[in-house]
Amino acid sequence: MPPNTSMHNISEVDCNLVSERIRLVISNTPRGLHEPCFRGQEKQYLMECIDTGWVSSAGSFVERFEHELAEYTGAKYAIATVNGTAALHTCLMLIGIQPGDEVLLPALSFVATANAVSYCGAIPHFVDSSPLTLGIDSHKLGQHLKECAVWDSNKLINRMSGRPIKAVIPMHTFGHPVDMPPLVELCKLYNLALIEDAAESLGSFSHGKHTGTWGGLSALSFNGNKIITTGGGGAILTDDAELAVRAKHLTTTAKTPHPFNFYHDMVAYNYRLPNLNAALGVAQLEQLNTFLEQKRCLAKRYEEAFSGIRGIRFFTEPENARSNYWLNVLLLDETNADMRDDILEQTNRSGIMTRPCWTLLSRLPMYVNSPKASLMEAERIEKSLINIPSSSFLGSVS
Ligand SMILES: *Cc1c(COP(=O)(O)O)cnc(C)c1O
Repeated sequence: MPPNTSMHNISEVDCNLVSERIRLVISNTPRGLHEPCFRGQEKQYLMECIDTGWVSSAGSFVERFEHELAEYTGAKYAIATVNGTAALHTCLMLIGIQPGDEVLLPALSFVATANAVSYCGAIPHFVDSSPLTLGIDSHKLGQHLKECAVWDSNKLINRMSGRPIKAVIPMHTFGHPVDMPPLVELCKLYNLALIEDAAESLGSFSHGKHTGTWGGLSALSFNGNKIITTGGGGAILTDDAELAVRAKHLTTTAKTPHPFNFYHDMVAYNYRLPNLNAALGVAQLEQLNTFLEQKRCLAKRYEEAFSGIRGIRFFTEPENARSNYWLNVLLLDETNADMRDDILEQTNRSGIMTRPCWTLLSRLPMYVNSPKASLMEAERIEKSLINIPSSSFLGSVS
């Protein structure tokens, strides 16, 4: 039942009103921000693993999960990994990111995006976000590159640091897709590799094409708080057969196939997803469309509930995009941003879990000296954003 709010009755935002409106939508039950939902074949598939003994690094659920992920996203290949961060790290290694390279990524992201770059010995170079998508602003990135980058023979160099700029990692923030076509163009223009951090955006599309299928490689996450979960887990998506083979090799200790011999042809990683986790993933994937419907329903109700309040708005999917509405977002107007902490206090005290945005990565101690563009919009978004309860079952029409 949609809450009875009226556009004619405009109210000014205050702390109590925010709590009240959230409660109207989620009907008085205190909830976490995003809880997993196991209402499918999870137990049956897990029991199958236990009964057959295939719980670990081999078993049929891994391949099944990979196959079904590829089918759902439209990617040619999916390679399951132990988590999303490992997937990102592997993507960066596969395109040959080296110590001393710079990789462009939004300052407004989860720390894993930057950490994966650091694991390669490379340096994150932070760029601004768009208020329309909450993700990388391609136009501003273009302007930034015009100012800060120079060509040295066929290498793109940051003129301030002297280091090569090799790649860009857009992140689809809280499930809302980055507008991909202009970014793809920009990457071509500057010869940048494109790796999508699609950890939050399974089920989200930009211009009808699934997030994570726009560049050469991308990373998904199935951590416990994501739209589907394997407990912990991730995946790499790619259309490139050779990259897919190398991804599998690099994430499975580079063991060359043989019935009994142990032979490894390079230093590689134990980044594989155990069969037990993949079993959970297969069961969860079967429910993804239901989760997506429920989440759209929940988002619609939030949108209505907050439509009659001046000074705050519910963030809706960008143009030309279909969002999975993974974590729902309230944005305060700039003049009301100083209310954010009071709203966080008040809602959490009254049993509604709400959270602020991440601290901008450029302000974390290990990244304060990293190169960065002007981050004006990212700073604005960070100060005014509140995540509100988003579990899919909150949107079920029961
Ligand atoms: C969840 C997430 C990851 C990866 O997380 P894991 O916990 O390693 O699976 C990476 N980037 C973003 C933006 C995320 O939200």
